[in-house]
Amino acid sequence: AADREKVNSVAKIKVVVRKRPLNKKELAKNEEDIIETLSNSLVVHETKLKVDLTEYVEKHEFVFDAVLNEEVSNDEVYRETVEPIVPIIFQRTKATCFAYGQTGSGKTFTMKPLPLKASRDILRLMHHTYRNQGFQLFVSFFEIYGGKLFDLLSDRKKLFMREDGKQQVCIVGLQEYRASDVETIKDLIEKGNATRSTGTTGANEESSRSHAILQLAIKRSVDGNESKPARVVGKLSFIDLAGSERGADTTDNDKQTRMEGAEINKSLLALKECIRALDNDQGHIPFRGSKLTEVLRDSFMGNSRTVMISCISPSSGSCEHTLNTLRYADRVK
Ligand code: ADP
Ligand code: MG
Repeated sequence: AADREKVNSVAKIKVVVRKRPLNKKELAKNEEDIIETLSNSLVVHETKLKVDLTEYVEKHEFVFDAVLNEEVSNDEVYRETVEPIVPIIFQRTKATCFAYGQTGSGKTFTMKPLPLKASRDILRLMHHTYRNQGFQLFVSFFEIYGGKLFDLLSDRKKLFMREDGKQQVCIVGLQEYRASDVETIKDLIEKGNATRSTGTTGANEESSRSHAILQLAIKRSVDGNESKPARVVGKLSFIDLAGSERGADTTDNDKQTRMEGAEINKSLLALKECIRALDNDQGHIPFRGSKLTEVLRDSFMGNSRTVMISCISPSSGSCEHTLNTLRYADRVK
């Protein structure tokens, strides 16, 4: 009963915004910081032109579960977002943490450290609180690019999805590594991140068109007996989404780019719909809308928790993208 209470005390959906500092390029262009932050709200100061071309400022206010400003460290981001979820994945809960935002807004900067910090806490719980209870930690890391799956821990081997008829999705051939120490996890995460960015057209260009999914699965052998097969108890997924502006690449001259843009657009829309359905406790969750949401199907079923981190640039030059990101987050909330 105490465990159930622990699970229930964590909100089903949490929406957090993270604002990064102005970067050198923006400062060089004299771009201004147009985002005013408070602890759980923010105001976007949008400069607009009247018909006679005089400027005026339109203010847009948004309220979220938390707003993290440019002074907030990655450690604090972890404490605000993932740390509260870690203990409940030992209690048959699946949780997902997404980073959403335009390319360059800080998604990867934000997401990269989270799985390692979470693994540290998971291993600590496994080795102390749940000592000798047969829990095991597994890591997998793959990406969705143009609607196709690639294993980031296995030289981008192409993967296929299968449903087992019991509402379980299975990614055929996905490498899962068991890890009992932080070093092993660190090596795996680094390997996956390196594989992710070895595209042909430059690191950020490639990664901005793919969703990277790192999963930490907690399994347990029957009766805590390690020689028996282990079953999934809980799962924590970290998703560095494709750049949200890529979803608009649907009129590009290049056919490949257009196709990828359409796929990204579809997946971000489907994701929003799935999270909204979760919050309303609707029986029907529209996960079939895209490869991304299909893959996450089991994380949306049953007892689940979702944290969305919306990343935004502070600069006047990104105002339109920032408003789009905040409106998306607002719909999910
Ligand atoms: P995205 O993954 O959304 O395309 P990145 O995470 O690659 O964006 O961030 C773009 C750049 O901004 C990187 O050089 C990154 O180091 C820097 N950056 C992002 N967020 C922060 C932050 N909160 N503090 C300092 N630098 C940041
Ligand atoms: Mg990135």
